[in-house]
Amino acid sequence: TTRVLTGITTSGTPHLGNYVGAVRPAIAASRATDVESFYFLADLHSLIKAQDPGRTQRSTLEIAATWLACGLDPDKVWFYRQSDIPEINELNWFLTCIAGKGILNRAHAYKAAVDKNTAEGEDADAGITAGLFMYPVLMAADILIFNAKQVPVGRDQVQHIEMARDFAQRFNHVYGREFFVLPEALIDEQVATLPGLDGRKMSKSYDNTIPLFAKREELRRLVFSILTDSRAPGEPKTTEGSALFQLYQAFASAGETAAFAQAFADGISWGDAKQQLFERIDAEIAPLRERYEALMADPAAIEATLRRGGERLREQFAKPFLAELRHAVGLRDLS
Ligand code: ATP
Repeated sequence: TTRVLTGITTSGTPHLGNYVGAVRPAIAASRATDVESFYFLADLHSLIKAQDPGRTQRSTLEIAATWLACGLDPDKVWFYRQSDIPEINELNWFLTCIAGKGILNRAHAYKAAVDKNTAEGEDADAGITAGLFMYPVLMAADILIFNAKQVPVGRDQVQHIEMARDFAQRFNHVYGREFFVLPEALIDEQVATLPGLDGRKMSKSYDNTIPLFAKREELRRLVFSILTDSRAPGEPKTTEGSALFQLYQAFASAGETAAFAQAFADGISWGDAKQQLFERIDAEIAPLRERYEALMADPAAIEATLRRGGERLREQFAKPFLAELRHAVGLRDLS
């Protein structure tokens, strides 16, 4: 069996992009018989972006409920919260001492922040925390602690998986044994990157999202606020670069999408196009929303599920593996 690992940062309310890009494909993939799936709530990662304890806690609950509402079965897959497994952080340190600083200098997230500072005439590292800089190492620890082989990611994350391979290889080399499997990025060409309300990538940290479980009326309001051009009803519309069209495509069959494209060419009004998009999304989400609301009414049950998952993983994998690694690097055996 292949181990597949997926995480979502607990930095805000889950949105349609998280659903289309991560939750929906991951749950479909977990139904295959030859995979062992790992799903985690990346709350240590959330501290890089959202230093707001209330937001992190709320987000943790919301994202956990989202996975469960969308069909994750915690008895069949590994489902846990990153910070419940302190061994991840310990491995994080071992990898920190292996990782080349020069490689981290080239990480996209860090470089983008530096480029922004430079463009604005600021000091290159102004406002950048060491946490942001070290983020690829923690991500490598998330993957390597369970020797996950496949990591489904968007294209922007491929570089981080390559870094995880690099750190794994170096560690194996330095300590003389194949402790770590080399992970691979799994890019699903079918999975789109959804645009947000402002046309940029939909992202929790841009506050441009459509929350996955917005109530029906709120969903309608948000869909109607998607940015469109000023073409009038009757004028043909272009599907290319249209956020509205891309969202529709992510929720519709090929046939429905072709019909929608034809309606664009025929000059559908933006109002009608938005109404169709709203109905399409709502048709898929409504049953999940109902389950989500029921789950959110009982936070203690969600908490218990997460704790159970974390404890089982620690006992079966994390603790024994860390004991092995501590021994390998020359530290005392804690057990
Ligand atoms: P943040 O702003 O905190 O980075 P995010 O909303 O961009 O949050 P993550 O939590 O980093 O998302 O990513 C979780 C998963 O959701 C990843 O697999 C990522 O590829 C996917 N994802 C995030 N945004 C989108 C999007 N707009 N379209 C498709 N997939 C997305």
